[in-house]
Amino acid sequence: MPFLFSETIFGPVQSRRLGVSLGVNLLPTSSKFCNFNCIYCECGWTAEGGKPALPTRSEVASMLEAKLSEMHAAGDPLDVITFAGNGEPTIHPEFAGVIDDTLRIRDAYYPEARVVVLSNATMLGRQGVIEALRRVDQAALKLDSAVDETMLALDQPLQPQRVEQVVERLEAFGRDYTLQTMFLRGDHEGRRIDNTTPEEVEAWLAVVERLRPRDVMVYTIDRETPASGLEKAPLAVLEAIGRRVEALGIPVQVRG
Ligand code: SF4
Repeated sequence: MPFLFSETIFGPVQSRRLGVSLGVNLLPTSSKFCNFNCIYCECGWTAEGGKPALPTRSEVASMLEAKLSEMHAAGDPLDVITFAGNGEPTIHPEFAGVIDDTLRIRDAYYPEARVVVLSNATMLGRQGVIEALRRVDQAALKLDSAVDETMLALDQPLQPQRVEQVVERLEAFGRDYTLQTMFLRGDHEGRRIDNTTPEEVEAWLAVVERLRPRDVMVYTIDRETPASGLEKAPLAVLEAIGRRVEALGIPVQVRG
């Protein structure tokens, strides 16, 4: 079963990694909306066609303010506000304005809380999105493989995309972001997909060295995937990749 968030503001949840995290889902609350169709996406497959209704900027601001005000009045702690949810947050047409509102509301109630955005980096061609992602405390930007064929097989972008384009967009963004990469193995539609092979890891490390992001997050499947036949990358493999990143002088977080 796909894992979908049924609300625009969800949580807070306590996580070992993030602390107390409140989620913001700028996508629909009953379906997924994304410009990728990753074979491992825990929200399930991307539906074709149609533009679902999205929460407006003012709706998101009022819901967030109501939640933070309630939590603050109750004396509840908050460590992070995370933009994730049922798809790609930066495809929301008012993303930049939503980030402005979120930072203002965060400053009013929980100035110490961090604002984090998980993104597939496809909208880095838009100046408003770039500037908004630079304003948050952490932008976690996806690059699942440095090999075109593998990236296309894993992420299935709805628009044509090449690794070099993504890398150039990330270079133009700067270095103050987390590069996030999902490692996995498996078979899908009659072909083997494995971005943990020595060739894959070498190509990916060369891109990491070229980009030198502020840190890297290496992770693997955590929930049911829409494609059957996929396996988690073993923790030892992720840790070995993590050590190679550290050897480049770049901090890394490994989630097995
Ligand atoms: S980019 Fe994220 S939300 Fe979109 S399909 Fe991939 S994993 Fe799912």
